[in-house]
Amino acid sequence: MANPSIHDGLRIFIEHLVCVTPPALFRRNSIPPATRSRRIFTRLTVSAHIFSETTDTVTYGGGDGNRLITRLLKKGRINSAMGRLGLGLAVGCAVASCAIAAVMVGRRVRSRRRWWKVVRAFEEFEEAASTPVGRLRQVVDAMAVEMHAGLASEGGSKLKMLLTFVDKLPDGSESGIYYALHVGGTDFRILRIQLGGQRSILGHDVERKPIPQDLMTTTSEEFFDFLALSLKDFVERKGNNLQLTQVRGKDLGFTFSFPVKQTSVSSGTLIKWTKGFAIDDMVEQDVVECLQKALSRTGLDMNVAALVNDSVGTLAVGHFYDKDTVVAVVIGTGTNACYLERADAVIKCQGLLTASGGMVINMEWGNFWSSHLPRTSYDIDLDAESQNPNDQGFEKMISGMYLGDIVRRVICKMFLVSDIFGPFSSKLSTRFVLSTPLMAAMHEDNSPDLSEVAKILEDTLDIYDAPLKLRKLVVKVCDVVTRRAARLAAAGIVGILKKIGRDGTGGITSGRVKGVKGDKLRRTVVAVEGGLYTSYTIFREYLNEAVAEILGDEIAPYVILKVMEDGSGIGAAMLAASHSARNVDTVQVL
Ligand code: ADP
Ligand code: MG
Repeated sequence: MANPSIHDGLRIFIEHLVCVTPPALFRRNSIPPATRSRRIFTRLTVSAHIFSETTDTVTYGGGDGNRLITRLLKKGRINSAMGRLGLGLAVGCAVASCAIAAVMVGRRVRSRRRWWKVVRAFEEFEEAASTPVGRLRQVVDAMAVEMHAGLASEGGSKLKMLLTFVDKLPDGSESGIYYALHVGGTDFRILRIQLGGQRSILGHDVERKPIPQDLMTTTSEEFFDFLALSLKDFVERKGNNLQLTQVRGKDLGFTFSFPVKQTSVSSGTLIKWTKGFAIDDMVEQDVVECLQKALSRTGLDMNVAALVNDSVGTLAVGHFYDKDTVVAVVIGTGTNACYLERADAVIKCQGLLTASGGMVINMEWGNFWSSHLPRTSYDIDLDAESQNPNDQGFEKMISGMYLGDIVRRVICKMFLVSDIFGPFSSKLSTRFVLSTPLMAAMHEDNSPDLSEVAKILEDTLDIYDAPLKLRKLVVKVCDVVTRRAARLAAAGIVGILKKIGRDGTGGITSGRVKGVKGDKLRRTVVAVEGGLYTSYTIFREYLNEAVAEILGDEIAPYVILKVMEDGSGIGAAMLAASHSARNVDTVQVL
């Protein structure tokens, strides 16, 4: 039969170990491994000590876990069996403590090494994606140079620098009712605005409609009949009892955000479909002609007065409100920019005459490329796996379609360099599974434990119980990706300003109002539209900051970035007004 005093000692040892050890110590990831191993070791040592006290032995713990010397002093009044058993148990406990501690320390070292691999992967990305102001200035120069090249000859640059034949931007004097159709993605918009002169909009109705999936791959006739019928339905419902006869001859603006080779302000042929559309019989057809025929079939006697893309629409609405608006940028799912150029600067189109002496140039800047762009291995992979490799390089670093996917790729790499965060989830290698709005939600998570980040990692990427340090690192990844995108877009904007002599350098004389005392700089407004800029606050702040940083304190106050919500749609209707029958045919190419 066991000696009662030893029996008691054992019981107390186990009870003590269980009672004093918080459950959290037994759960992985709840406490950093280093702390956990230290605490478990302490518990074992204390428990062994209590046991030895109970059994009249004395245990000494020395060192910090790597060395434990247990010495038992047997007292004369204890019988030898009890002493041997007590000694054996105490030594056993001490050895177990040492073994556990050694395992814990080993784990700690390995886990720390794996974590450093993760941090290293992040730091390499951060370094490769960095955008110091010096590098941004190189991008500014490259943008201005490429603009020159694109205007000099067809195919002279990756920037297409397309003529829009828009030579007259709305100035606020327009009046009357105008309609617009906006096609450019999965939903399309129908608008009706009533302009009252003096920069006023008296009425504004918009309706959004999804384009049914099957219509994206149908025939051109069916597609345009759908647009025309939707417009007719809109006119009937929103027209305040306006009879269809009363819209007779009304001018319509048509925003068509696909690559189009424009032949006049109200005609242009489709170069290719993008964004999932594939209506084959439309390619190389005049899109206005197709729409005009569909309107006739539907019984709507309306005149398509302006065919524009979304950036031109944005410039138009910006100019309507503020005549100093000469540049427009769209940063949404995709990105593009346009600006008002002098007609004589369009060298590839010699003899271009416009009544105003200027013309809006559609840059198609998403395709801009320069060796100064901070390209990382993640960008290279994203491009290689895309539907359009070697195309739209700038867009792939900047626009909402891609930012979330760059973040996903960096997180994926972190998992690949280390198994520290648990099993690899297949979602991590699924393209576009992490959208940019979700990425923005993680970036803007202000909760102390980053609970939104944890939720999105769990729901979207199947990453469960991500430790806080990983969540913090994910936020940093979002920050690097967004910061780079915003700063590059800012450099692109300043590049345009440089080309037209409004950045305060080089062409400074053309950027100053002649004859004004003190050589005062000219005010320049840039109209900006698109969900990334309007809905993602950090992106907007980074972009605005970078424009000011590149321009410097003297010039920055003269450059104003203005948000144009839904500018592309309203702008098309305004352009229909400024290019209505009274004003067309002002552009000639001799
Ligand atoms: P589109 O570019 O398709 O015409 P928008 O201009 O509305 O449409 O931009 C939509 C894009 O903007 C989305 O694809 C998304 O990438 C981005 N976006 C929208 N809202 C947010 C947000 N809150 N945070 C970050 N990005 C956003
Ligand atoms: Mg848009």
